[in-house]
Amino acid sequence: MSRGLSEAGVTIGTSVGGEGPREACGLFGVWAPGEDVAKLTFFGLFALQHRGQESAGMAVSDGSRILVYRELGLVSQVFDERTLATLQGDLCIGHTRYSTTGSTTWDNAQPSFKTNGTRGLALGHNGNLVNTSELAIRVGQRSRASTDSDVVATLLARHLDRGLEQAAMEILPTLAGAFSFVIMDERTVYGARDPHGIRPLSIGRLGSGFCLASETCALDVVGATFVRDVEPGELVSIDQRGIRSSMFAESPARALCLFEFVYLSRPDSRMYGKSVHEARREMGRRLAVEAPVQADLVIPIPDTGHSAAQGFAEVSGIAYGEGLMKNRYIGRTFIEPTPALRSRGVKLKLNPLPDAIRGKRLVVVDDSIVRGTTTRQIVQVLREAGAIQVHLRIVSPPIRWPCFYGIDMSTRAELIAAGASVEGIRGFVGADSLAYLTLESLVAATGAPSSSFCRACFDGRYPVPVGEVEPSKFALETL
Ligand code: AMP
Repeated sequence: MSRGLSEAGVTIGTSVGGEGPREACGLFGVWAPGEDVAKLTFFGLFALQHRGQESAGMAVSDGSRILVYRELGLVSQVFDERTLATLQGDLCIGHTRYSTTGSTTWDNAQPSFKTNGTRGLALGHNGNLVNTSELAIRVGQRSRASTDSDVVATLLARHLDRGLEQAAMEILPTLAGAFSFVIMDERTVYGARDPHGIRPLSIGRLGSGFCLASETCALDVVGATFVRDVEPGELVSIDQRGIRSSMFAESPARALCLFEFVYLSRPDSRMYGKSVHEARREMGRRLAVEAPVQADLVIPIPDTGHSAAQGFAEVSGIAYGEGLMKNRYIGRTFIEPTPALRSRGVKLKLNPLPDAIRGKRLVVVDDSIVRGTTTRQIVQVLREAGAIQVHLRIVSPPIRWPCFYGIDMSTRAELIAAGASVEGIRGFVGADSLAYLTLESLVAATGAPSSSFCRACFDGRYPVPVGEVEPSKFALETL
């Protein structure tokens, strides 16, 4: 039995020290007796790899016992044919994890597994709770020693004697913040979304069952048909009785993270019924109208800038081309733990095409600027490759406010736009010009109303009160 493999009845160590973790992850769940559920989950997670490259794991059950396997690394590094062959059953949940500085440990890999001695449960979480300290006190921990996901799994396990569905209906309403969960016991797979629906979760139909996935691209990959999204405040249960829905809380308002459209989701996913690729293309078109510029070539920053750069080129009439090649096999540099590693990561990841760039005035389209450090290096790399002008066009507004709901930008001080004007940022990154898309245009490009999004990173209006957050996270340091 490897370090990552455990059986129902064996408690997996899960405590971590230090700061509270913040996660934005990929979730997959499937109930499909007769299918190779572990393989389906593998391919589902593989399609969601962009949502987290730190660890991967899955829990599978044959109806009587739950096996959990999880390890640090990419999905394809964690699982191979041999491992998958040991994970046989009728239902399975899986998780890919993305985390912040300081919490890259095996202990934080998911799914979390808990048992009450007779029954077990496994849980995968995408999002971040904002009342973890309060919940930790409820489970009898004096400090925030565990992840928020682990605390939820512990709370659920304490109520397991009445069944997991009942336990979830009691515990989920007491959680505050962002959560999409895939949960399972020995027989049933559950999916739940917080009452604002901050993180996505969709339901798909397979020939012989159902599956759940953070993004619809994972449904496509396993051959499932999109049914609908899990509703904010809803718990869905999937087993031999079919699919059932219970509302554990009323939804005060919808607040899907707008950054899902900007950066997090794959372009071949759909959110609120809209293709993310189409939305990003429209963002680029609108930016070309809002911030035109004389130039010779529009290039995207791979990969998230592609769709928007096409839209920008289409409306501006400037030729579109590739100027930077990305090494696809490297994790997002953003999640590297130290600034030194991050800066090395840029050069490992993006290599310029000097023949395409030399002597040109470039429009460089990217989805966002967070800290500014990567962007600054990219501008420098482009100039070194011979660009004569670099005009940056960003298809989201300046990110001025930290996120406490699951994106790795949790302090104001780290956000370049919190303490600098657009002109200040332009100077820092070394571009000839810099323009951002307006919030109105960004929202309009999604086709959904502004009131259906969490836009807190852009406008500071947090849909769920962030009372437990340390005031220092709002402290501002200027350039
Ligand atoms: P920086 O210039 O250091 O702020 O980095 C900007 C780059 O980070 C852009 O190319 C974005 O695509 C990318 N980015 C934005 N948000 C995230 C995130 N949450 N995780 C990883 N990369 C991100």
